[in-house]
Amino acid sequence: VGCGRQGFVVCPECLKKAERAELVCPECGRLAVGGNTHLGCQQRDGLDGLVAIWRYRGVVREAVKQFKFKFVKEAGKDLAREAIGVIENDGRFLDFRNLIDKSVIWTGVPLHRVRENWRGFNQAELIAREMAKGLGGEFIPGLVERRRYTEHQAGLARRQRGENVEGVFGYNLKFEIRNLKLKTVVVVDDVWTTGATMKECARVLKKAGAERVWGMVLAR
Ligand SMILES: [Zn+2]
Ligand SMILES: [Zn+2]
Repeated sequence: VGCGRQGFVVCPECLKKAERAELVCPECGRLAVGGNTHLGCQQRDGLDGLVAIWRYRGVVREAVKQFKFKFVKEAGKDLAREAIGVIENDGRFLDFRNLIDKSVIWTGVPLHRVRENWRGFNQAELIAREMAKGLGGEFIPGLVERRRYTEHQAGLARRQRGENVEGVFGYNLKFEIRNLKLKTVVVVDDVWTTGATMKECARVLKKAGAERVWGMVLAR
């Protein structure tokens, strides 16, 4: 992906030139310093901030597609590695960098119900694992899990159903023994679209006791 340079799935030089995303408040979508949720937009069980690395276009869009739909895991690793470089070097990510320490927990959003069977890997968790490896903190896969399809959902019109994730996710009871109190959790996904899934993950994690929940996506 990119200019076709040999030896890479995604050309790092092309990624370095890729257009970066503006940091916005996850609640209102307006510009926000450091990606921090505006004070007036904060919800008790909402996201405390959001960082997106690139605009979803060009080489980034192409790489994400390779990664997501063609199972090219290397593309995901290349993107994660470059994303780590951006977070470490771009001053706009200072607030986010300051959140990251050994106690931070990284996890991915649960897979889409329809896709989980045929893809065989969760692209969000692959990125989360790479981020933890590169930036520090602990990677915990499956912290938020997808629950059974609810009757409430089944009753909705098909058009609405795609957006309605309320009550679909739950805290994975396998991790009940872990104390999320005073912990910062970073929920990772490849692309931010409506944010509905990410916000629902934040709600679940806050209810489970997390002090702070941030979202991190490769592209927006
Ligand atoms: Zn290139
Ligand atoms: Zn806002």
